[in-house]
Amino acid sequence: MGTSVLKQPRQKELFGQPIGLYILFLTEMWERFSYYGMRALLVLYMTTQTIGDNRGAGLGWTNQEALALYGWYTMLVYVMSIPGGMIADKLIGQKKAVLIGAIILCLGHGVLVLTDIWAFYTGLGLVILGVGLLKPNISTMVGGLYKEGDIRRDKGFSIFYIGINLGSLLATMTVGLVVAEWGWHAGFGLAGIVMVLGLINYVAGQKYLKEVGNYIPNNNDENDVSYGKLYSKLFKSPKQLLFACVLLAASIIGWYFMDWGYGMLFIFLTAIASLLMMIYKELETQVFKDRFLVLLLSFIMVIIFWGAFEQAGGLMNLYTETNTNRMLFGWEVPTVMFQSLNAGFIILFATLVASIWAKRKLKGKEASSLFKMALGIIIMGFGFLFMVFAAMEFEKSGTSSMTWLVLAYLFHTIGELCISPVALSFITKLAPVKYASLMMGVYFAATGLGNKVAGIIGESASEFGELTIFLGIVIFTVIIGVLFIIILKPLKRLTHGAEETERVLKNEEAEGFELADN
Ligand code: GLN
Repeated sequence: MGTSVLKQPRQKELFGQPIGLYILFLTEMWERFSYYGMRALLVLYMTTQTIGDNRGAGLGWTNQEALALYGWYTMLVYVMSIPGGMIADKLIGQKKAVLIGAIILCLGHGVLVLTDIWAFYTGLGLVILGVGLLKPNISTMVGGLYKEGDIRRDKGFSIFYIGINLGSLLATMTVGLVVAEWGWHAGFGLAGIVMVLGLINYVAGQKYLKEVGNYIPNNNDENDVSYGKLYSKLFKSPKQLLFACVLLAASIIGWYFMDWGYGMLFIFLTAIASLLMMIYKELETQVFKDRFLVLLLSFIMVIIFWGAFEQAGGLMNLYTETNTNRMLFGWEVPTVMFQSLNAGFIILFATLVASIWAKRKLKGKEASSLFKMALGIIIMGFGFLFMVFAAMEFEKSGTSSMTWLVLAYLFHTIGELCISPVALSFITKLAPVKYASLMMGVYFAATGLGNKVAGIIGESASEFGELTIFLGIVIFTVIIGVLFIIILKPLKRLTHGAEETERVLKNEEAEGFELADN
């Protein structure tokens, strides 16, 4: 591959990146506006009792009930990325999957405008399906804009990540104000309107996406992905079958001792783990197998990272509402607006962080993605130290300063920049091409599991108190990050130089591509 690929004709570019990137950027920006706008309201809407102000009645649930549903919802949104990725791989391609996902999202947010409880659940269900189809596939399409070894890829993902957060920032700055003035359902409606904008932008930009995300019907056996065949082979592979049976038994026990929701989740995870085992077994070479394995191992970091980080929309959101002094020059800052800090910091620091890595790359000293991910966990973990200080202040004086929240979100954001765009790009480098969408789906599902973990941790705050929870997160995440750094060398060996290829190709870029960032 390599050099001959680089000599292909250039795509249309803007600021050194394919124009298609900006179409995907804008589509994802509006989609994330709708997602984060709605997410910022969700627990607050569920826990609000009264009709005392313009916001109107909420559902009046307890914190624990609200965080439990929030955990399931934010988990399912991302777990649905697995079927979303499979549908794209097997049936319609990523481009159509994104289109259908966007349409379903418009419907979902539209339904949430209605005040009935059935509309609430239906709306959430539709959003889960829509994000499941759109989110993994739009990310894979970004990767598809670049040929193997193209050095612009990481930077492309960083730009895309700014789009994500621009959407989130605009949402959290405006939705809170809309709700304060016109009520909860107007806030949900705003999310719906911007999703229509996202859809229009995506349809209008199709001419720049001709080459990417298309469904390629594959009748030749070598590249065909048949999940059915892989499952049927499971029954002829004693070791894998035994492992799958153990997982299934554990799921049934989980069903019995916990509840049906967890039972279903564990059975679903058993099915996915079995599929991944069979994919691993079927991969042709040891290099592919090792890369696949290291990708799955990196997903452990992903689950832990989001398990801590995602306190943002849940426990930290409630903490902001009830325990924080939000007065700023005589104005009470709406709780929802604190959700914009993360997005705002991303926009401020994304290019800085990306260019630090890019500069090191040019010097031939770039840190591996795995290192960046482990570092991300540690930095984010330290962010919770500020929440510990906040909780201590609250215990002493009955309120705490919002400076702690600002500092916590700052560290969370720098951590996120080290792990999240890096992981997206890492997947598109390491996943076997024919399983690209599936692996993106599995990645998002891992972030979804992190969301569920976050919900569980958040719920347990009512039992253990915020201080203990925040301190526990600091200790656990820092230890995990350090452990991954300790085993970095053997892990890196498993990538078989997937990232070094970029550096080698860099020397040949005069023949095809230019560097994007200088
Ligand atoms: N904040 C990022 C986004 O919305 C990451 C979310 C995730 O990976 N779970 O895309």
